[in-house]
Amino acid sequence: MQTFLELSAKYVYEKYKENISDLCIVLPSRRASFFFKNALAQAATEPIWSPEVSAMEDFICRLAKTDVLEPINLQLELYDLMREQDPTLDFDQFVTWAATLLDDFSRIDQNLVHTGKLFEYLGEAKALERWDPKYLGKEFSPTMRKYFSLWDNIEKTYHNLKKRLLEKKQAYTGMAFRKVADNIDHIAKESDCAQYIFIGLNALTASEEKIIKTLLKHEKAEVLFDSDEFYMEENTPNRAGSFLRKYKSTWKLPEWRWQQNLLLTDDKEINVIGVANASMQGKLAGQLLQEIRQQDKHAQVAIVLPDETLLLPVLHSIPENIPNYNVTMGLSFKGTPLFNLIDLLFEVHLTGITQLQESGYKVYQYHHLSVTKLLTHPFIRRYELYVNDQPDQEKYHGMIQRVLDKIVEDNKVLVSAQELLKLGQQHPLFEVLFKTWRDCDDIIASMYRLIDLLREVYSHGHNTIETEYLYIFYTLVKRLDTIFDCREHKISVRSFRKFLYELISSTRLPFSGEPIADLQIMGMLETRALDFENLIILSVNENTLPAPKRHQSLMPYDVLREFGLPTYSETEGATAYNFYRLLQRAKRVNLLYVLPSDTYGSGEKSRFILQLQNDLALRNPNIKFRDMTAAVEQKMKREYHEDILIEKDAQTIEQLKKELQRGLYPSHLNMYINCSLQYYFTRIAKMQEVEEVEEQLGADKFGTLVHQVLEDFFREFEQTAKPIEVADVELMLTQLPGQVKMEFSRVTRGAMPERGMNHLLYKVAVQVLEKYLQNLLHSDELPLYVLRLEETLSATLPVQVGDEEVQVRIAGKADRIDLTGHSLRVIDYKTGKVEPGQLKVKPEEVELQFTTDPKYDKARQLWLYQYVLQRTLKEQPETILRNAQHVEPWSIQPHSGILSFRNLDAGVMTSEFNFTEADGATPKDFIAASEALLSDFVRRMLDPEEPIRKTNDLDVCQWCPYRGICAR
Ligand code: SF4
Repeated sequence: MQTFLELSAKYVYEKYKENISDLCIVLPSRRASFFFKNALAQAATEPIWSPEVSAMEDFICRLAKTDVLEPINLQLELYDLMREQDPTLDFDQFVTWAATLLDDFSRIDQNLVHTGKLFEYLGEAKALERWDPKYLGKEFSPTMRKYFSLWDNIEKTYHNLKKRLLEKKQAYTGMAFRKVADNIDHIAKESDCAQYIFIGLNALTASEEKIIKTLLKHEKAEVLFDSDEFYMEENTPNRAGSFLRKYKSTWKLPEWRWQQNLLLTDDKEINVIGVANASMQGKLAGQLLQEIRQQDKHAQVAIVLPDETLLLPVLHSIPENIPNYNVTMGLSFKGTPLFNLIDLLFEVHLTGITQLQESGYKVYQYHHLSVTKLLTHPFIRRYELYVNDQPDQEKYHGMIQRVLDKIVEDNKVLVSAQELLKLGQQHPLFEVLFKTWRDCDDIIASMYRLIDLLREVYSHGHNTIETEYLYIFYTLVKRLDTIFDCREHKISVRSFRKFLYELISSTRLPFSGEPIADLQIMGMLETRALDFENLIILSVNENTLPAPKRHQSLMPYDVLREFGLPTYSETEGATAYNFYRLLQRAKRVNLLYVLPSDTYGSGEKSRFILQLQNDLALRNPNIKFRDMTAAVEQKMKREYHEDILIEKDAQTIEQLKKELQRGLYPSHLNMYINCSLQYYFTRIAKMQEVEEVEEQLGADKFGTLVHQVLEDFFREFEQTAKPIEVADVELMLTQLPGQVKMEFSRVTRGAMPERGMNHLLYKVAVQVLEKYLQNLLHSDELPLYVLRLEETLSATLPVQVGDEEVQVRIAGKADRIDLTGHSLRVIDYKTGKVEPGQLKVKPEEVELQFTTDPKYDKARQLWLYQYVLQRTLKEQPETILRNAQHVEPWSIQPHSGILSFRNLDAGVMTSEFNFTEADGATPKDFIAASEALLSDFVRRMLDPEEPIRKTNDLDVCQWCPYRGICAR
């Protein structure tokens, strides 16, 4: 295969052999220039002095003889200028649109737009906007006034900026292009170049066109294009040839060099391969590369990445037997873990809030989530390991984990810098990360110190890549440090971040490799003018190739069109050309794309693939077109055991007995019935959930809050044995909001009920308790004697299991035991909704279902309370009846009941346990019947034939903390 650059080099050498070193050769990119020099060296049959070969932008900058400023410096110049016109201009506001405005200025000049007309047109358009009927008779808001004043001053700003830059012999890119275009006649006459040769260009700006055409007119230039019949045909709708077709028809070149007919005639193999996800493309690229290399050891291959974030996955999948490759694109600093750390650091400082403290001072506090993310970043974790290895820093060993644990332990939703510094024992790392930033000097200082600290870690090992990241980041900070005068610019953290990220996004980690290696990894733009026999192009999806339609200008679309400024349709045309040109000489093309999925945002096959499939492949019989889908290679099959079964061996039975001796509570009984495995995990294996900071009052905490407030109110009556009367309830009602607020902050360890969801929950708690107290006030329960609060009642039940008698402690913790009239009630508060129907037990279901069916959980709870209550009244009545001296013990009717805060109108709901003999009519003694049922249950629990297993009821799993283990 003869590449376009080889063809051009041969042509140039043969035609200009005599004065070749006097030529000036211009190509689209530095990469193309490098390849051209190589091709020329190969074309030359004898030693030659190389001509001057450069990329278009370098060529223009050299002719313009000015320094092209970096975007950041330009923005600062622009800001100074605009402040002269509008001293109230806010820097933070300015940075949001400055870069786009400067790009617009650059495009205007690059396209030689008549600025007088353009600004007049824009002024009129904006005047019309001002006349919009919706503003009629209304004062403009300050934002609107600022918006219109920007457009009023835009022309002045443009001219002043150019004037200022000219005085300093500086320019922005477009300015340099316009300067050369304006002087091109003069340059053509004075130039040292015998001839200018432009090779492989496309999508020229107006200034580039003018430069080339003027040189052509002076017979000082030659242009070599790379075009193909397929997209150069007349009236073809294919945008790939939109620029070249125009040049061919209007430039009147003596000869059009070159137009080949490769796409429609050449042999090609095109494989379109759909893959399941973006990162799998890297893996597949590695496999394809391996296959190509197996067929031909020296095959020239290019892996093209329209989406540069795939560079690392691709590099990781290059087979080990390919040691030599060249990466042209550089790894974006944005894709590095160090950038991620910096991003997290900004997140900590930007997402905090200022909160009024009890001391009366406002303190800036960071959010626990961003602090946790920052402290668990791999670089910080690595730093902790380094500190742990330093014997002289013993007091700091494990410091990060300690701080993380403390945040969870104290349920710190918001943490102030002071607290974090204290928790981190004032270690320099904590100062660097959390000390509050006042201005950009503080940010820069902490960045320097962070780099220093991390360098300590990485300079000791063989961490070349991390050290490289740190070095590059250091150079970025240093540049910002030199550019900014923080006090003068009064830049906010947010704006500083914008500048830093802008610098970062244009920063690449350069790769050093063999520049002419057989394998090239490059971005789409880098491929301009180059050819490869084997291509692997990734991300051939809509919105990546071609890029999405974006309007990246402050100017309205019609202004761009009217003045010949490029819009997305031009960008699309240029991309289409790059794509088809690359295919012209390729023999094997693999186009990888991500299959569309249901996931939001996943792309579609690119239109380029559809064009190939429905147009080119049909017209060129020599194209082997295959549309395929990559299968996911399942190397390891994950096997799940259908069930987790835990046999009750002797040791497990022993553990179960011990647990029963400690206490069989209603919640344990219900848990075992719902899922014996969950009981095992919780009570036997004692597996605990990982604690997390709770920002919102969770359902469990909400229950605790309501319980706690009632306990606060009722405790006094339990201790004094005084009954609760109407006046007492009225007092409770007045104290209620304050009491709830106090308990709220105690239960949540400091969260405030003033905001968001917590505020709603606080309101709900007040409402619920108010309703309960109102109901109590108007009920016949008063006077109400509080006998015990939060009391655990228990009774021992000997159960015969085989030869052994197991002493089972049946227990229940009552929220409240009270006495109203002669009715003694053990009450359980429930924050969820309970209906009286849930507490009914059909006598015929008792035998078979009462201790096996999950639906009876509430009734079972009341049953156990009733059982331990009756046993206690029988065996130790004094433990309960201390405050009930006014009634005869024999007259007391014991009950157990539920008070549901979501069904307060139902009052205290009780359940009747009318256990009967098999005939269904003869009543059984409650205690004896209960003990028979409980003994049966205990024997089942200890039966080695009944293993511990997962429940079949998936509803039970829904809120279970062990779902991960059970794969439910
Ligand atoms: S996830 Fe389901 S099966 Fe597993 S322990 Fe929890 S409730 Fe039982």
